[in-house]
Amino acid sequence: MADKRKVGVLGGGQLGRMLIEAANRLNIQVNVLDAANSPAKQISAHNGHIEGSFKDAAKVKELAQKCDVVTVEIEHVDTQMLEEVAGQVTVEPSWKTLRTIKDKYAQKQHLKQYGVDVAESIDLEGKGAEGLKEVGTKYGYPYMLKSKTEAYDGKGNFVVKSEGDIEAAIKALGGRPLYAEKWADFSMELAVMVVKTKDGVLSFPTVETVHEDSICKLTYTPPRNVSSTTSHRAQDLAKKAIAAFEGKGVFGVEMFLLKDDSLLINEIAPRPHNSGHYTIEACPISQYDAHLRAILDIPIKPFQLRLKEPAIMLNILGASTADSDKKVAQFALENSDASIHLYGKGDSRPGRKMGHLTITRPTLREAEQAIQPLVDFVDEQKG
Ligand code: ATP
Ligand code: MG
Ligand code: MG
Repeated sequence: MADKRKVGVLGGGQLGRMLIEAANRLNIQVNVLDAANSPAKQISAHNGHIEGSFKDAAKVKELAQKCDVVTVEIEHVDTQMLEEVAGQVTVEPSWKTLRTIKDKYAQKQHLKQYGVDVAESIDLEGKGAEGLKEVGTKYGYPYMLKSKTEAYDGKGNFVVKSEGDIEAAIKALGGRPLYAEKWADFSMELAVMVVKTKDGVLSFPTVETVHEDSICKLTYTPPRNVSSTTSHRAQDLAKKAIAAFEGKGVFGVEMFLLKDDSLLINEIAPRPHNSGHYTIEACPISQYDAHLRAILDIPIKPFQLRLKEPAIMLNILGASTADSDKKVAQFALENSDASIHLYGKGDSRPGRKMGHLTITRPTLREAEQAIQPLVDFVDEQKG
């Protein structure tokens, strides 16, 4: 292919790495801004990468000068600099979208304005213990205290179970910009990867996500015991949410399915997402292929986003010992036909995403049976 356009990515973690796997197949050069030897750089040998932090404005500018389109694998970026460089280079999705989404409270306010159902929330900035008490009176307990920014894998969340927890909550999250969310008494968490192209909004299938200690552990596609009507409603809600933002690319939309069968948006990620890893094996094009195509205006057709075969994805997380993730990978290699993805990260830490694996089968039931020994092995590693 004669596509000479260069893509720049802020961040070189596992999402950037899998984006490069997709780009490599199309012979498209991706320039990564991150530390030397970051996971994405390890699989991409050319001299267009930039060494440094994706939070460093001067480095972002340097990256922009070397690329045709700049995108992100993480939302915690300097949107001021992206706004500045947007005059010289295409930024996808738009820096405005990134600015709104990187603040989880602003994100929710924005969605509400567009008539999208989101978890109810209250701004707490600068309010201290009194503010937290007022939330307890209004929402009851438990409720969720959240940092507006720099949150991932539940780091930035605190469950306030009673008034007695307020001091500990402030101790844990004090100093960060805070808001509170009404407790969502969900029966299940769902997610949908949405693709925004120059022509419109498309979506991958609905996924069930299972979190443990606020970190995604498993995804099931299709969701277990969920009607196709509900799955379609989730896709429609996710598409409505993403239509409210400017720019192109894939977006991960996390949702709560409440016990009365209603759906609420939990949060949005303006980039490829953990809940979309299954698309690599289970769909004709993956979320990474789709992101690349969307930001480069390469056509995408709805049938390319269909589920070819039910799939279960299991994250390989750092656990109690430094080599537990390697043991999981080894066990899966020897005892299953899972597709195994290791991210090339250095140190393993408890809860750190070190890799993932995906099993597909003609039915979800068969996939559940096939993955059970691996889930059991992972659980044994927790110690
Ligand atoms: P991510 O790694 O997905 O970016 P995060 O740190 O931004 O995570 P959230 O998605 O806000 O965190 O919350 C993590 C998990 O905590 C959710 O997936 C859900 O299981 C639980 N949770 C979050 N908000 C609520 C809520 N309002 N009520 C009940 N549970 C919640
Ligand atoms: Mg988040
Ligand atoms: Mg989340």
